[in-house]
Amino acid sequence: MAFGWIDEQARARSRAGLVRTLRPRPADSPLLDLASNDYLGLARHPEVTEGAARAARTWGGGATGSRLVTGTTELHTELEGELAAFCGFEAALVFSSGYAANLAAVSALAPHGSLIVSDAGNHASLIDGCRLARGTTQVVTHAEPDAVRKALQTHDSPAVAVSDTVFSVDGDAAPLAELAEACREHGAGLVVDDAHGLGVLGDGGRGAPHAAGLAGADDVVVTVTLSKSLGSQGGAVLGPARVIDHLVNAARTFIFDTGLAPAAAGAALAALGLLRREPERAARARTVAGELHARLTAAGLEAVRPDAAVVSVRAPSPEGAVRWAADCRAAGLAVGCFRPPSVPDGISRLRLTARADLSEAQIERAVHVIGATRP
Ligand code: PMP
Repeated sequence: MAFGWIDEQARARSRAGLVRTLRPRPADSPLLDLASNDYLGLARHPEVTEGAARAARTWGGGATGSRLVTGTTELHTELEGELAAFCGFEAALVFSSGYAANLAAVSALAPHGSLIVSDAGNHASLIDGCRLARGTTQVVTHAEPDAVRKALQTHDSPAVAVSDTVFSVDGDAAPLAELAEACREHGAGLVVDDAHGLGVLGDGGRGAPHAAGLAGADDVVVTVTLSKSLGSQGGAVLGPARVIDHLVNAARTFIFDTGLAPAAAGAALAALGLLRREPERAARARTVAGELHARLTAAGLEAVRPDAAVVSVRAPSPEGAVRWAADCRAAGLAVGCFRPPSVPDGISRLRLTARADLSEAQIERAVHVIGATRP
């Protein structure tokens, strides 16, 4: 039977308790949300939703074509200029998702014969970028600049190191300045994914590369998503203008994909305007993360010290993690649940996101529920 093999996979998944299901989120969910990536609470901000609505009314429900044909509007150009200016880079290029931006940056900057040095904790989209690239990938120890240095020593053709700035599972930060130094010693480029840093780290949320003194560097390329702190949807690559021009001409996920929807561009532009006017939002998200961590630890839970807005809590087993998240939900709290194969180290976790708009009472309630439902 066609696709017969998938039934055996489904049975194996079921036996291992690893079946995933989709659950529509009600528009007026009563749950306290520590599961989404809406770090600054902007997804429903009236300026952001109005930015989206105005853009859709002006430009239509979709981009109508690929960026090189009809899919580039004035809004796309304005968003690219504003993203580059806000984060301190020469140029930017927006994509329909952060995933597509990562595929583009890695695959277009690692030609045949080149070396890609990839952190073992990198996000799936960076890993898939390595798979799509013509270069050879070497995976190195997590957050270890000396491992990157050692890998680069063995190679004299073009090379690029690839890392998340904030790792999406445990919320720990990469040693960006040291990574850049290791790359410079060997004439290699550095591509970093700031999906979880933009809006949270750096001056007013300008991101982890800005905080590490790498903004505007001619050997650093940054990818971001518009779908987390900016409360929109889409992604971007930021860097030197010559790199961005190269992507326009060589990145398959740019050339062959329909442009970012105008509504998403409008929402992201409105969110960037809010970040400029209200820079305290970034610091508040970091404070909330610190408070969550301190209270969880005081309650005897094993939580990783957060470097940005992601707080990871260890669970005893995959089944325990699933039950824990379900019990939190039953008690009115939405949390993320990470388990294999999303976490290759086999350690299951609850993943909490610290939102800038959480009140002290909400933080207290969240920690109380997590403690009371612990398996
Ligand atoms: N990079 C990282 C580190 C992420 O966590 C995500 C989203 N889960 C992405 C890239 C992909 O971004 P998008 O959701 O915009 O495709």
